[in-house]
Amino acid sequence: MLTLTLSTGAQTKITAPKNNYSPADDVKLGREAAGEVVKELPLLNDQRLEDYVETVGKTLAAAIPPEFQHPEFRYTFDMVNQKEINAFALPGGPMFLNRGMIEAAKSEGEVAGVMAHELSHVALRHGTAQATKGQKFQIGSVLGQIAGAIVGGTAGSIISQGTQFGLGAAFLKYSREYESQADILGAQILARAGYNPREMANMFKTIESEGGGRGPEWLSSHPNPGNRYDAINREAGMLRVQGNASTGQFQDIQARLRGMPPAYTAEQIAKGQAKSNPQNTSNTGSARTSVSVAPPSSQYRASSPFSFLRVSLPSNWAEVSGGDTGITYAPEGGYRASSGRLEGVTHGFQIGVAKSGTGNLQQDTEQLVAAFAQSNPQLRRQEGYSRETVAGRTGVRTTLTNQSDITGQTEVISLATTRLNDGRLLFLVGVAPQRDAGTYNDVFKRVRQSVQLNDR
Ligand SMILES: [Zn+2]
Repeated sequence: MLTLTLSTGAQTKITAPKNNYSPADDVKLGREAAGEVVKELPLLNDQRLEDYVETVGKTLAAAIPPEFQHPEFRYTFDMVNQKEINAFALPGGPMFLNRGMIEAAKSEGEVAGVMAHELSHVALRHGTAQATKGQKFQIGSVLGQIAGAIVGGTAGSIISQGTQFGLGAAFLKYSREYESQADILGAQILARAGYNPREMANMFKTIESEGGGRGPEWLSSHPNPGNRYDAINREAGMLRVQGNASTGQFQDIQARLRGMPPAYTAEQIAKGQAKSNPQNTSNTGSARTSVSVAPPSSQYRASSPFSFLRVSLPSNWAEVSGGDTGITYAPEGGYRASSGRLEGVTHGFQIGVAKSGTGNLQQDTEQLVAAFAQSNPQLRRQEGYSRETVAGRTGVRTTLTNQSDITGQTEVISLATTRLNDGRLLFLVGVAPQRDAGTYNDVFKRVRQSVQLNDR
């Protein structure tokens, strides 16, 4: 029997450019730049989406050829709630993906294509290699230059403004040589990971065809080295795709994005009109306090969340979700919701009704706390129960703390309960970050004191 094998040639060998910096420098520079990014760009912070890009990203990172793996590097993946098609990666591994890029992609392979290209810039250490060419810069002063070199566009200008050194347009984009390298290594990573490298070429076509106000941002920082599409496909012809890495979730992810309010434009972000979703599912390891939530208004308004209850609340708090156990009031940015479902509150007040257990108010309240702790494992009671009159009735009050799974910060919870006439427990819960507890405790007290019951 004769077996015919076609010679496919060898994949292109890549050599990382000369670099006077250490991988540890990359990590340091990238971490500082990421700190600027998370302060200035509106992160999406949607757990499902973060999980998705992380799944794809980790698969790709694991497929970086061993000679370009750096043990110091940590690849992390965050989504930016921005409309323009863009993605960027910082030295040492933090990657940021614009929502518009995932919305424009036609397949998961196209998303993976952009990510593999960005990972390649990181793995080949192109940022510090670029800085090596500009020897006059010292490590401490080179951050803006490097970050800008990698990022370009909105994020690039933010990072360069956030550092002491501005940067010339020459530093805002990669050289064609580095672009070629990132395309070729990106194709190799895709194949090793189990994605078709031709999808990267397709994505570049998708980006070019979007044009208008959406496409150029990425292209301006990743200029076409010439014959990009053909060069990637030629490399792809020499590569064997190993397995199939597709998660099968791409359609669901795009549907989820379509169900969200529109992304911010670069212009809105530049004007400071965009806010990060307050929930922080960050995995970049940097502390994020970018949540900007307006303080409670000194104006109050009345609300009647149940037919038998009236309450007054700061006028800038809206009812953000109904539920079978309660109603939540929160300021803009003080809660997390996805697909119309409330997932958590960082600033605000919840009013709810629970079944009675023992008939003893304090014991029933203790059971309520235990029930809350099931979905908040870090919830701790900070003090004993004290008496507090609620709507003229006997009530109890206590303070708890929780470690927010959203912001990673300590939050303080003021809980008060009283008994409804049908025996059920009425509970009043105020939530605020610990650092704002002073302000909010007074507000919560005033809200509790405003409660009127008419449940006879
Ligand atoms: Zn590039």
